[in-house]
Amino acid sequence: MARYTGPSCRLCRREGKKLFLKGERCYTDKCAVTRRQSLPGQHGKGRKKASEYGTQLRAKQSARRYYGVLEGQFAQYFDMAARQPGVTGENLLRILESRLDNVVYRLGFASSRKEARQLVLHRHFTVNGRRVNIPSYLLRPGDVVAAHEQLKGSDKIKAITEAHGSRPVPAWLDVDRENLTGRVIALPNRDEVDFDVEEHLIVELYSKN
Ligand code: SF4
Repeated sequence: MARYTGPSCRLCRREGKKLFLKGERCYTDKCAVTRRQSLPGQHGKGRKKASEYGTQLRAKQSARRYYGVLEGQFAQYFDMAARQPGVTGENLLRILESRLDNVVYRLGFASSRKEARQLVLHRHFTVNGRRVNIPSYLLRPGDVVAAHEQLKGSDKIKAITEAHGSRPVPAWLDVDRENLTGRVIALPNRDEVDFDVEEHLIVELYSKN
């Protein structure tokens, strides 16, 4: 399935919550979710209550969109999570959080996950000293993520860190803003993931297939 290229805010309105897809704008009162509560589209205002399947589908779609993951890869993450010991839904969120693009965003080195993805694709980050250009690269505890020298001196990163440097960094990550590096202390527990989703609904959805 191709990557969605339409308006980002429409996706948030479809899910009825902020997915933080646009960077700076998401933190202001210009956010479309804050301004318009209705679903997008001509019949948005008149939509009926969702079915059980619809609710489960929305949970999955919102997680997929929040982390910027395509359908096939999301299903692979679910299989991976189901094979791990523990609660499948929590394992799934942990896997999604450990993606390199997500960690770059969480560290405040990008204004959105989309931008983090671009920066990683353009080889602007290293993991344990080696350049990695795979946004879906899964980090492990102890891994060190650093901006490459080229990015460190750029106006772009200065603007990003000025605007997003004060964004709280989760406790499972350690950040050194001066040197633009971060370390994964441990993979997050559920209560350390601030994404508002009922992950058990995603598990129920996939369990039907
Ligand atoms: Fe979503 Fe950000 Fe648009 Fe708000 S501004 S609707 S959070 S993409």
